[in-house]
Amino acid sequence: MAISIVLPDGKPLSLPDGATPLDAATAISPRLAEAVVVAKVDGKVQDLRVPLTDGAKLELFKPDSGPGRDTINHSAEHLLATAVLKLYPGAKVTMGPQTHDEEFYYDFDVAGRTLGPADLERIEQEIKKLIDAKVAFQRKQVSKPDALRFFDELGQNNEYKQEILSWIPEDDVSIYQCEGFVDLCRGPHLPHAGFIKALKLTGTSGVYWRADASKQSLQRVRGVAFPKKEELDFYNKRQEEAKKRDHRKLGKELELFIVSERYDDHDYREEQGLDLYVGVKADSPLDRKLVDFALSTTEASFPGVSIRQTVNFEKLPAATEDDKSPRPQLDVRLRGAATKEARKAFEQKLTDQKDAEVSLNFEPHYTEELGPGLVMWLPKGGRLRSIIEDQWRKMHFEAGYELVYSPHIAKADLWKVSGHWDFYREGMFSPMSVDGHDYCCKPMNCPFHILMVKSRIRSYREFPMRLAELGTVYRYELPGVMHGLMRVRGFTQDDAHLFCRPDQVAQEIDTVLKFILKMLRTFGFEQFEVNLSTRPAQYVGSLEEWGLAEQNLRDVLVRQGIEFSIDEGGGAFYGPKIDIKLVDALQRRWQCSTLQYDFNNPERFTMEYVNSEGAKERPIMLHRALLGSIERFIGVLIEHYAGALPAWLMPEQVRVVTVSDKHNDHARAVTQALMQKGVRVSFTPSSDKLGGKIRNAQIEKIPYVLVVGDREVEQNGASLRLRDGTDKGFLALAELTQTLVDGCSVPVVT
Ligand SMILES: [Zn+2]
Ligand SMILES: [Zn+2]
Repeated sequence: MAISIVLPDGKPLSLPDGATPLDAATAISPRLAEAVVVAKVDGKVQDLRVPLTDGAKLELFKPDSGPGRDTINHSAEHLLATAVLKLYPGAKVTMGPQTHDEEFYYDFDVAGRTLGPADLERIEQEIKKLIDAKVAFQRKQVSKPDALRFFDELGQNNEYKQEILSWIPEDDVSIYQCEGFVDLCRGPHLPHAGFIKALKLTGTSGVYWRADASKQSLQRVRGVAFPKKEELDFYNKRQEEAKKRDHRKLGKELELFIVSERYDDHDYREEQGLDLYVGVKADSPLDRKLVDFALSTTEASFPGVSIRQTVNFEKLPAATEDDKSPRPQLDVRLRGAATKEARKAFEQKLTDQKDAEVSLNFEPHYTEELGPGLVMWLPKGGRLRSIIEDQWRKMHFEAGYELVYSPHIAKADLWKVSGHWDFYREGMFSPMSVDGHDYCCKPMNCPFHILMVKSRIRSYREFPMRLAELGTVYRYELPGVMHGLMRVRGFTQDDAHLFCRPDQVAQEIDTVLKFILKMLRTFGFEQFEVNLSTRPAQYVGSLEEWGLAEQNLRDVLVRQGIEFSIDEGGGAFYGPKIDIKLVDALQRRWQCSTLQYDFNNPERFTMEYVNSEGAKERPIMLHRALLGSIERFIGVLIEHYAGALPAWLMPEQVRVVTVSDKHNDHARAVTQALMQKGVRVSFTPSSDKLGGKIRNAQIEKIPYVLVVGDREVEQNGASLRLRDGTDKGFLALAELTQTLVDGCSVPVVT
């Protein structure tokens, strides 16, 4: 008997019964069979060795394809687990990530041990041996009891695997074996490890089982794996570059914002005398001994001092005797009075501790009192933010949106109606009690906009209604995951909700999608990755509504010629969506824009309008954000441009510097002339040397520097220098003004 399968070009291929994707590849060409690592059968990724059925649609993938890379990362995880089990007898394997992004990782219970760089090196060497040996991944379909028996035999039965097994509803599970390691796993995997051409372990961090701080602490080992050697070199270079561009570092240098990532487990106490903070980065491997040393040194140096720690040690793994990892960063802050000599001696004692990277700070910043993940914008950052928001508002008014404002808190009752109270509570700040009622910080703006639409009876003539808001929301993030502006607990969504009639929705989607791309292009992004996410297993609304909505989204993408991939079942329970990731200068992807249908809220809030026949009808609701979060978007901008933002975004666009004080009057006149044309220009008389002034402007990434000396005064103009060091020479005032007005204007994107 034979089966016939369908190839991507629509051509049929005849194969013997029981043939696998690998057999299909061999039938096409033996060279192809050697090059492919994974298949899609009827749209679902799977191993090359699972038999095909008659009529199946087959796609084959090489290692450097999207599915190929996912499979490489996933297989690298299994190699990592294999190596850890071999090197650390008694270590318990827990689980890796659900989806495989650029990095891979796996979480281990290593009996309270902290894994450091020396461990990473050992593990990496062990993995490389497995790769060189081209170890194979074998799949088996077994019953749950058989899976447990199998784990037992290999000494890999543990409480984590039992818990994971209890989440799986099916009777049969698939397991994968690789050397001595066996894991519950849906797959797919590479045929063998030899397809991984480069691999590097990138770090470890302390995490908790199921991200729950009351549960067992685990060690997460992270890494990257590639189908080509050169890709690792590229990755390393990019990491170097990313470090230089880190928005947290640049944000500090350019004095844009302040945000704390620190997790403080203690409450404020007003006390006399010194107050010591010992802060350790929450994702560093911790060494209790070092912190103990800091504490005892402080006690000895300043007797009677009150000491506070910003880390709760009960929840962290203990250090071990043979731990050779470099000491974590220790941030010691002292408040209150102490003699200069006492401070000096203290500093000496701490920094003499050679293994430690100690930073001492005698100035209180009170960021612990502020709390982590809450951003404060300094004047320059405030200016930058207002420039972005002004542009955003201008474009929204032009696009027919109305601007609204809603409060930061609301009664819990509102969140009960919206469903957040029941389904999103772990993502919300705990409620506060006011007049005997619970109030919550808003995690979203949607309910407010719905109330605005519902403020009176709406006629079909009023739609579409487009309500936009730069709405600051508060969401609970776990301590330890905060990251600069990228991951915070309070952020401003550039939110809008579109309410329309069914006959208007296709047009609305078309318009909003164009608007999203126009907005992102205005900020200089040109490369995007678009995803359409469809109906998940759990959903509200009817199949008909979902079908129509998905069709609308797909049609618009096709009509606008936008390339997209489909995330089957990846939609929210309340509706399908389009997500747009922008690609930055380092080829990193950032999820910013989203456009989502909502079948849930109009129902929950009984939204209605009067249609042309005088009957009541439910409007269609769409959520959309373009920049996503203003905070995060600014973080992305800073890293994309390495701080050198386009001139139109810079708080200070032009700086005038003089050769000597006798040129100050002319400098003032030039400044005045530019200011009148709307250019953000500054001039501060200073006795510094000219070279120093120019250097300062360059460090601050000022796009244009105008140099004024004798010639510039005589001929009424200035010499223009660009941020990259280009010297444009002398320009007369009229030409200069025009050049700078053009250079500082918002780019026109159609
Ligand atoms: Zn797996
Ligand atoms: Zn919304």
